[in-house]
Amino acid sequence: MVYLARPSCYGDARCVGTAVLSTTLLLLLLTFLLGLLISNRLEQQINQLTALTQRLLSGERDTTLPRQGKGEIEEFSRNYSQLVDQDNEVIAHLREERDQLSRVLVYMADGVIIADHIGRVRQINPAGYRLLGTTAEKAVGHTLAEVLRHHELINLWQRCQQEGVEQMAAIEVGQNLFLQAVITPFQQKESQAYLVILQDLTTIRRLETVRRDFISNISHELRTPLASLRAVVETLQVGALDDPPAARRFLSRADHEVDTLTQMVEELLELSRIESGRVPIRLSPTAVCDLIQIPVERFKAQAKRDKIKLILNVPEDLPYVFADADRMQQVVNNLVHNALKFTREGTVTISAFLPEDAPKSVKREIMNLSPSVIFSVEDSGVGITAEDLPRIFERFYKSDRARTRGQGGTGLGLAIARHIVHAHNGRLWAESKEGKGSTFYFTLRTA
Ligand code: ADP
Repeated sequence: MVYLARPSCYGDARCVGTAVLSTTLLLLLLTFLLGLLISNRLEQQINQLTALTQRLLSGERDTTLPRQGKGEIEEFSRNYSQLVDQDNEVIAHLREERDQLSRVLVYMADGVIIADHIGRVRQINPAGYRLLGTTAEKAVGHTLAEVLRHHELINLWQRCQQEGVEQMAAIEVGQNLFLQAVITPFQQKESQAYLVILQDLTTIRRLETVRRDFISNISHELRTPLASLRAVVETLQVGALDDPPAARRFLSRADHEVDTLTQMVEELLELSRIESGRVPIRLSPTAVCDLIQIPVERFKAQAKRDKIKLILNVPEDLPYVFADADRMQQVVNNLVHNALKFTREGTVTISAFLPEDAPKSVKREIMNLSPSVIFSVEDSGVGITAEDLPRIFERFYKSDRARTRGQGGTGLGLAIARHIVHAHNGRLWAESKEGKGSTFYFTLRTA
């Protein structure tokens, strides 16, 4: 019997070929799919990197790259992220330095201007435009000549431009402004630029003037009693000694001049001690009448002799005030003494009252003060001219009338009084009408 085997693929070359082909196709498909997958992932990562660089380019610094991928891509993205981080750190550091610099410029007391090669203002700080009486908007973009305005400042800049070296000068700009200007050329990129520094020396200059005036005043004040003393001594030397009554007269004059000199030196020492803070002010709650009564008692006899009515007007129920009693009695003393000195047969009234009972002009003066008691010394004397009134608290200031009448005094009493009141956080001021009398007011905080 012949067994006929069923035709089968096994062993058939065609079938083997088909199997190999289909396997290859399958493998190719798989490879293609895998390739597609990998290229998709790569494309995604490259897209992320592209988006990141675009964000960086548009100025957004806060960018991080998600850690993805393997091998080179991962290393690339890690390096890239590190680079971005480092870059961000440098930028943050630079930003902080720039902010610090601009804060310094904003708060600086000196004016700073930066101008380009033709002198056009590029930058100006607030002190700069304040000192020059302009604004940033009006200054930036305009020439230094337009911004500096003062001819000496402009000349200084032109000299700096021509000679190419730093220029410095102290210049009086207007009545109340004294500036030290320094203009320095410097190289910025390819061209020249200019740095202008303006220092306000007004206060220092004023202090210098005060010191100069002080020395000239003191020399002047000392000269008069010293010349008088010399005259007395010479008169005694040339014969007055042999005439006892005349000698006694001259000696009494000499005694008076020595008294004046002693008083001046004492007051000067006192003023200098108060000004330098070497006189301790010990504030304690004090009754108002304790500050007034003693000085007033002291002047009663003099007032009676000069036919001046001395009136005390102090309510009993006033609150206590913070005061150093000795020092404040010295103030009342000075004020009452002056009131008597500049009054002839009139009245001198010493009062104390609360702000609500104060006249309108006083209310205006004490508007921003903490609760205080107001003291006043009012006289019906010669008064003070409108010209003298703002100056009477200056050291050595005496009105012409006081000088020509030879009305004693050193011109230091009111300066001392004002210093003492200020050390009590109070105010001292005066109102006056020439020919009608004067009123001096001071305040002390209630305790
Ligand atoms: P002095 O000790 O020379 O009086 P003050 O400093 O006390 O110096 O006063 C300065 C000047 O103020 C006086 O020379 C005078 O011109 C003026 N003055 C002060 N008090 C009065 C007053 N009550 N009436 C008029 N003038 C006054």
